[in-house]
This record gives sequence, structure tokens and C-alpha cells, in this order.
Amino acid sequence: MDLYSGYINKLIEELAALPGIGGKSAQRLAFYLINMPQDKVDRLANTIIEAKKNVRYCKECYTLTDREVCPVCANGKRNHKLIMVVENTRDLAAYEKTGKYEGVYHVLHGAISPMLGIGPGDIKLKELMERLKGEVEEVIIATNSSLEGETTAMYAAKLIKPLGTRVTRIASGVPVGGDLEYIDEVTLFRALEGRTEL
Ligand code: ZN
Repeated sequence: MDLYSGYINKLIEELAALPGIGGKSAQRLAFYLINMPQDKVDRLANTIIEAKKNVRYCKECYTLTDREVCPVCANGKRNHKLIMVVENTRDLAAYEKTGKYEGVYHVLHGAISPMLGIGPGDIKLKELMERLKGEVEEVIIATNSSLEGETTAMYAAKLIKPLGTRVTRIASGVPVGGDLEYIDEVTLFRALEGRTEL
């Protein structure tokens, strides 16, 4: 017997499919949404639809942006010969918050994980190699220090080194398995300063 209406069940199901939301949270959120005033629900739904419609990859660094080229890539004051490779847009935002990095980024949108069946072709590595055909002096690999992040760093270094481009890896002051975005700005800056050759 269904305890709730079909609509509520469907809503709970959709919410529970989101990352980090378990069955209990999904139920709580579903009832919260149902009890919200109609105009607020409309606003939330439209915000999701508009964000999905308008957000795209920057055509240079592949971060998520509303424009063709993101504000970092469009900034002529940034050093475009220095590229920091990160796993996702959240990591980019974490580095931007330090306010100390003057180069540009490349967002991979993932990391190589044989366990999860994610290969080099599933992340934006080809696109990185394409950028290296231009004038680039150094690639800083700032993937997470998880197994996947390290695997990705090694793989990318092996591809880049033959080009004669300098490849460095951020210092491992970053805790193993730690998501970059949760690490404080001082630690992030130190990891960047203490980067080593690969
Ligand atoms: Zn960009």
C-alpha cells in the first residue's frame, strides 16, 4: 500500500537520486517543498531549469560558466602560459579563493578510475593536450591526492612530458583522500608554492 501520493513518491525518488541525499533527507525535503508557497516553488524550479539551460563549458578551460569564455580565461592579466589542472569547477573555485594564483586552469571533470570504469577518454585530457599545442610554460597538476587523483596526475605527466613542457604536482601537504574544496586557503597556497617537478 502506498502511504503517500504517487506525486510525492516520485518527488522523493528524484531527490534521493541526488548525491549525498539519503532516503530520510529526501522525504524531509519532499514534504518541505510541498509545503512551500507556490511562488517559491516556481522560482526554485525555474532556477534549476535556467541554470541547466545556460551553464556551459568555457571553450578554453572547460570550467562551468554562463559565457563562451569564463572570467579567468577572459582576463588578460592572468598568465595564460601557466595552466593548473583540477578535477572540477569546485576545486577551481577553491584555488581562486586564495587570490594568489595568477595562471589559468584546465578542468578535467573527473579523474581516472579503473574501479569505476572511468578512463582517460572520459575526462577532458584530450582537450588539455590540445591547449598545449599553444605556448604553455608549465602545467601544474592539482588533482586530489586520492588514488584516482594520483593516477590521473601520473597519466597526464606521462602525456605532457614528451612535449618538453614543465609539469609539476602540488605538494602533498594536502591530506590523502581529502577533497581539495574542503582544504583551507593557506594549506592550498602552501601546496601550490611547494609544488615539485614530475
Ligand atoms: Zn575558462
